[in-house]
Amino acid sequence: MEAPNLATAIPDRIGAWTDGHWVAPGSHANDLPVMNPTTGQRIGTLAEADADAVAAAVDAARRRFAAGDWSRAPVDARKAVLVRIRDLMRERAEELAQLETLGTGIPITQARGRHVLRAAMNFEFFAEFISQSADRLYDQNPDYLTLVRHEPVGVAGLIAPWNAPLALATMKVAGAIAFGNSCVLKPSELTPLPFLPLMEILHDAGLPDGVVNLVNGRGPVTGQALVAHPDVDVVAFTGGTATGRLIGAAAGKGLKRVVTELGGKSANIVCADADLDRAVDAAVLAGFSNNGQQCLAGTRLLLQRTIADEFLDRFIARVRALRVGPPAETSTEIGPLISAGQLERVSGYAKVAREEGAEILTGGDPADLGGGYFFQPTVVRARSNEQRVCREEIFGPFVSVLEFEDFDEALSIANDSEFGLVAYVWTGSLAQAMRAADELRTGVVWINTPLFRELRAPFGGFKHSGVGRDGGDWSRGLFTEAKTVSIPRRDFALARLSS
Ligand code: NAD
Repeated sequence: MEAPNLATAIPDRIGAWTDGHWVAPGSHANDLPVMNPTTGQRIGTLAEADADAVAAAVDAARRRFAAGDWSRAPVDARKAVLVRIRDLMRERAEELAQLETLGTGIPITQARGRHVLRAAMNFEFFAEFISQSADRLYDQNPDYLTLVRHEPVGVAGLIAPWNAPLALATMKVAGAIAFGNSCVLKPSELTPLPFLPLMEILHDAGLPDGVVNLVNGRGPVTGQALVAHPDVDVVAFTGGTATGRLIGAAAGKGLKRVVTELGGKSANIVCADADLDRAVDAAVLAGFSNNGQQCLAGTRLLLQRTIADEFLDRFIARVRALRVGPPAETSTEIGPLISAGQLERVSGYAKVAREEGAEILTGGDPADLGGGYFFQPTVVRARSNEQRVCREEIFGPFVSVLEFEDFDEALSIANDSEFGLVAYVWTGSLAQAMRAADELRTGVVWINTPLFRELRAPFGGFKHSGVGRDGGDWSRGLFTEAKTVSIPRRDFALARLSS
């Protein structure tokens, strides 16, 4: 397929999408540069939405919600629109993938094969979900039928990060609108590009104007205004743990319901009895896909001592062979980090590793590709789980290795973290696998498999990896109000006062 002409897809200044139109940004708006992480050059300009622009978007969402043509539309009508969105995303998949890669540095093969497909699947999943899920009825009491209805909450404020812009934002958008809500989406200010065609797709699919609105800008300006807006009823946030605290507090102040999906420092436990070929493949994937910038990365590789040397030899050879390069090339496996700031942050952790006496087994420095924010795939052998490279989320192609003696120790190291997003366990023993499922304090446990997302099941973190879940029933819980309706089954004597 011929690559789309991206230059025509990016307007001079990217504004807000309100009530079905791109809103020309006012001259007083702050202009923010949109950078190409591969070259370090500016590729666009973002006109930041201030509190007034956010209020206009929330107002459009509220008016459409109140109109009822989406919020009270028959489920089959909503389903049909969601399916059309999926179809149009598939038709324009190449354009979406190219823009995702251009803005994030994610290798094009991963943008095509994973991100865009997942984004389209999010709409398909919720189309099917609303069509098949039923409300409960309680008929145990002989005098009453009691039924539980799920009604849309109202206006959702959706805040997304830069590391998987399309896939993560659409999980929120699709969930919110499937249940009849309207929403205002705020993507990361670093990655506005794929939302340009996405807003058109929503429009072309027949979604009423105002159901989905979009505001661009920085967190403390645009994001904060969105969370604080009194007419936003529910907030769904994915991003860093420090930001999650702020958002939880702001949402709490307004008594809004909120879900926060935050950072991770996930253990990848490899036992001596594991299928080591598969475990090596998975460790590379878990540590380095998405340029290592994913919340569920397996960044603490825990190896049983008896196989540690052999495993590391093989793992390091594979990491050294990873092809670092321009993300638009199909041979590239590791693209640049998202920003100059992120490159500085990841480089800083290599320095910390050296200062703390961790051994750099490979990488540890920026990769020189003549510009851009490239960092070498890096593996360090830590001296203990107390070191900062084992405790803090680095969010780059950076894996820290520790050894363990027995499974008790592996579980205890894995759980010794402020985070609790996911854990990976590689073992040939059913008993050990079941113990891991019982004892790991994480929202997801992957046994002998990496990176599988079941959209019907809950996803989210224990501890400081977040509050709440999304997926299937859990998204319904977030985006609907449950209402209990009781109806008498027959006439019966009512208790009478003052008779
Ligand atoms: P971030 O917290 O800096 O920003 C996330 C979003 O929040 C952005 O849109 C940002 O503009 C906005 N924001 C920042 N401050 C805000 C404020 N005060 N009020 C409202 N909005 C604000 O995160 P990031 O750097 O974009 O993303 C990386 C982080 O996201 C990592 O920590 C990663 O682990 C996490 N993440 C978690 C998951 C998950 O599902 N648990 C998935 C992907 C990424």
